[in-house]
Amino acid sequence: MSEFDLIRRFFTRDTPHAILGVGDDAALLQASAGNVLAVSSDMLVCGTHFLPDADPFLLGHKTLAVNLSDMAAMGAAPRWAVLAIALPEADEAWLAQFSAGFFALAQQHDVELVGGDTTRGPLNLCVTIFGEVPAQQALRRSGAQVGDEIWVSGCLGDAALALAHLQGRIALSAAELAACLPALHRPQPRVALGLALRGIASSAIDISDGLLADLGHILEASQVGAQLDFAALPVSPVLNNCVSRTLARQCVLSGGDDYELCFTAPAVHHAELADIAARHNLPLTRIGKIVAGRGCIVHDASGNPLNVEACGYDHFR
Ligand code: ADP
Ligand code: MG
Repeated sequence: MSEFDLIRRFFTRDTPHAILGVGDDAALLQASAGNVLAVSSDMLVCGTHFLPDADPFLLGHKTLAVNLSDMAAMGAAPRWAVLAIALPEADEAWLAQFSAGFFALAQQHDVELVGGDTTRGPLNLCVTIFGEVPAQQALRRSGAQVGDEIWVSGCLGDAALALAHLQGRIALSAAELAACLPALHRPQPRVALGLALRGIASSAIDISDGLLADLGHILEASQVGAQLDFAALPVSPVLNNCVSRTLARQCVLSGGDDYELCFTAPAVHHAELADIAARHNLPLTRIGKIVAGRGCIVHDASGNPLNVEACGYDHFR
C-alpha cells in the first residue's frame, strides 16, 4: 500500500464545508460570516500519552477528542481538522480501527478532516483543529473577575484513577475499573457546553493537566486568586470510595486527562447555568470563587486550608 493509497483509503472523506479538502497541497477554508477561526494543536505521543498496544479505535477517538476539548474551552464550534501522523508501518487493520474511531467522533461533531501529513516513524498522532467563534464571544483564560464563581463540568479524577490502576499504583475491582476506564480511554469533549457558555462564562479552560494546574492558568491570565471548597468537588462513587484518600485527592486535584471544562461566571448567571446543566444532561458544580490576590487556596470541609501542591503534569519538570 503506497502512502497515497493509505491516505485515500483511511483518511479521505467528504468535506462539504471546505472549499477544498484532502488531495491538494493545502486545504482551502473560509470562516462563515461574523466568525473568526479558533486554531489549536494537540499531539499524542506513544509512550508518553498512550502505550504501544493501545486500542486503535479508542486512540482514534482520543486523538480527536483532546482537540475538540480545546475548541470547547474556547467556546468555538469545531469545523475542520488536519492530521499529521507518523506510523512505524502501514498496518491496515490498525489503520482501519484508528480511522473508524477518529471519524465516528468527527461525524458526531460535524468536523471534516481536510488534510494532514503521513510519514514513517515512531507512532505519533497530531491533530490541528479549526473552529469558528465570534471574536468577542471567545472564552479566554483572561476574563475571570473578583467575585466570579468557579464551576466544573462532569466529575474529576476518574481518568487518573484508572491510570493509577493500570500502572499498578492501586488495585480497583473489575466493576470499579469498568466505571473509571471510559474517562481515560473515551473522554467526551464538552463542545455543546462550551457553545452554551458564550456570553455567560467570564473565562474557561479544559482540564487536561489537573484542576489546580489548569485553574492556575486562568488565575495567572486573569491576575486573580481563587478559593476552592474541596468537599464541593464533583467525584464519582468509585473515587469517593477509593481506599487511598491521598491518591483520591491527587487524582481529583492534579490527576489530569479529565477533559472537563473549568470556567468562571458572575453569580447572576446561576439560574442559566442550572438550565444549561439540565438541557445538556451534564452536571455543573460550583466549586469556589475568584478572590483578589494570587494563587489558589483549597479549604477542607471544616474550612481549614488543605496543604496541596499545585502539581499538574508538566512534560519538562
Ligand atoms: P505534500 O507532499 O504536499 O506534503 P502529501 O503527499 O503529504 O502532500 O499529502 C497529500 C494530500 O493528502 C494533502 O492534501 C494532505 O493534506 C493529505 N494528507 C496527507 N496525510 C493525511 C492524513 N493523515 N490525513 C488526512 N489527509 C492527509
Ligand atoms: Mg506532506
